[in-house]
Amino acid sequence: MNFHILTLFPEMVMQGLSESIIGNATENGLLSIEAINIRDFTKNKHRKVDDYPYGGGAGMLMQAQPVYDAWKSVADKIGRKPRTVYLTPQGQTFTQQMAKELATEQDLILLCGHYEGIDERVLEEIVTDYMSIGDYVLTGGELPAMVMVDAISRMVPGVLTNEESGCTESFEGNLLEYPQYSRPEVWQGKAVPSVLLSGNQKNIREWRKEAAIERTKERRPDLYEKYEALDRCREILKKQKLLHIDMTELIARGQAELVYAKGATICLFDKVSRIYFHTTDVKEIGCLALEAIKEHALTHAYQGIADLLVLHQDFMKPYAEETLGLHEIMVCKQAVYTRKEKLPITGLYRVDGKDAEDGMVMIRRIGKEYLDTVVAHYHTIDDPAYIIERIEKGAMYGAFLGDELVGFIGTHGEGSIGMLEVFQEYRRRRIGKALETYMINLALEAGQTPFGQVAEGNEKSFRLQESLGLCFSKADVYWMEKK
Ligand code: SAM
Repeated sequence: MNFHILTLFPEMVMQGLSESIIGNATENGLLSIEAINIRDFTKNKHRKVDDYPYGGGAGMLMQAQPVYDAWKSVADKIGRKPRTVYLTPQGQTFTQQMAKELATEQDLILLCGHYEGIDERVLEEIVTDYMSIGDYVLTGGELPAMVMVDAISRMVPGVLTNEESGCTESFEGNLLEYPQYSRPEVWQGKAVPSVLLSGNQKNIREWRKEAAIERTKERRPDLYEKYEALDRCREILKKQKLLHIDMTELIARGQAELVYAKGATICLFDKVSRIYFHTTDVKEIGCLALEAIKEHALTHAYQGIADLLVLHQDFMKPYAEETLGLHEIMVCKQAVYTRKEKLPITGLYRVDGKDAEDGMVMIRRIGKEYLDTVVAHYHTIDDPAYIIERIEKGAMYGAFLGDELVGFIGTHGEGSIGMLEVFQEYRRRRIGKALETYMINLALEAGQTPFGQVAEGNEKSFRLQESLGLCFSKADVYWMEKK
C-alpha cells in the first residue's frame, strides 16, 4: 500500500514513521510512505503558502494553489483520482473499522492542514473523505496523519508478522481486549490468573471472552451496549443455525452493524462488504426493516444506495423490489461446516514448501501478479475490481504445481468461502477438494465457522461440499441487487 502525505513538515512525518513495525514493513516493500512538501509547489517568490482569510478573523489560511499542485503531482503519478483524506477536526472520527476499510486502498493521499486550515475551494476539488482523530484541535494534520498511517498499515496483510494479533484486539466485535500478562508468574504479590497457565486453550478462550466483556462493560458502556444488542440477535438467529450462518458469522467476526431488530426480524449491515442482510418471520415487520435499510443506506452505504441485500425469506422479494429497487440475482443454499475438528489433509496438499514431485499441490496466498489469470478463469463474478479487492485483502489462495497456478479459491468480503476454480486441464485430481479443505481449516484456525453459499443448480459444488461433510440449509437465501 502506498501512502502519500501532503504536508508542510515532511521530515516530521517521515521520522515518525521510520521506526519499528511500520519502518520494517516499508523496508520489506509492503508499504511505501512518501511525504510531499506542499511548499515546493508554491508560485510565490518568497515561498509563502498562507494568507489572511477573507472576511477577517484570527490566523492564516493555507492557499489553494500550492495544495492543489502538490496533490496533482501525486494524482498524475497514480493516474486516476485517488482517495484523498483531509485531516480535520471537522471530519468523521477515525475508527478501527475505517482503518480496516482504508487498508484495502492501493494508494491513499493524506492532506495535512496547518494554521487555521485550508482554503475551502481546493478541499471541494480534491478531498474524498474528511477525517478527525478526536474531538480536540491540534496545531497541524501531521500527528493525525501519522496516527492514521500507523493504524491502517497494521491492517495491511503481512505487516503484522502474527496476523492473528490484528484481529483479536480491542474493537473487534465491539469488545475491548482482555487483560494480558507476561513473566514473572507473580509480581509484587500479584499472581497471573491461573487459567492462563493451565494450557487448556478452550478454558483460556472462555476466560478471555468473559474478561473482555467485563472490561468493556466497565470502561466503555457505549460499546458494550452495541455488543449486547448484537449478542441478543445472534441468539435469535441461532434458532435457524444453518439458514442464518451468514448473519451469525458477521456478528462473530465483528463486521456487523445492527440496522433493525424486532422479535425475529433482524437486519444487519456488513461494515466490510457494505452488504445488507435481512431476515423476518412476519411480512409487515420485515417491510419496516426494509424501510430502515433505506434510511440507513442514505448515510452508510455507497452513494446512499443499498445495492446488495441478502434476503432469507422468498416472500420478502417483492417488497425489497418495491422499497429498495432490488431484483434477484442468485438463489443459494448455505453450506456450513458444523464440526470443530480440522479436516485431514493427507494426500491433498503439501504445506512444506518443497517441490510437488508427487503431484500434490502447494497452497499459498496469491498476490496481484495473478490477477489476470484469476480474472480470465473466474466467470461467476465478472468484476475485475472485486477480484483485485479480494487479492489485495489477502483473501485469495492459489494451488500450485511447481510454479504454475492451477486453481484458486478465496473468501468473499462478507466471510463466505467461494470463488473456487480449478483450471480445465487439472480437474479430476482432487485439487478442488484440496483448496476447499485448506480454506475450511484456515477458518477453523481463526475460530470461525466455515461456510459457503452454493448457487441452486451448481451440482458439482453441492457434491464437493457434501463430500467434505458440510450441512446445507433447507431454505434458500436470495441475493438481491440494484437494477
Ligand atoms: N480552524 C480549524 C477548525 O476549527 O476546524 C482548525 C485548524 S487546526 C488549528 C490546523 C490543522 O490541524 C487542520 O487543518 C487539520 O489538518 C489539523 N487538525 C487539528 N486537529 C485535528 C484533529 N482532531 N483531527 C485531524 N486533524 C486535525
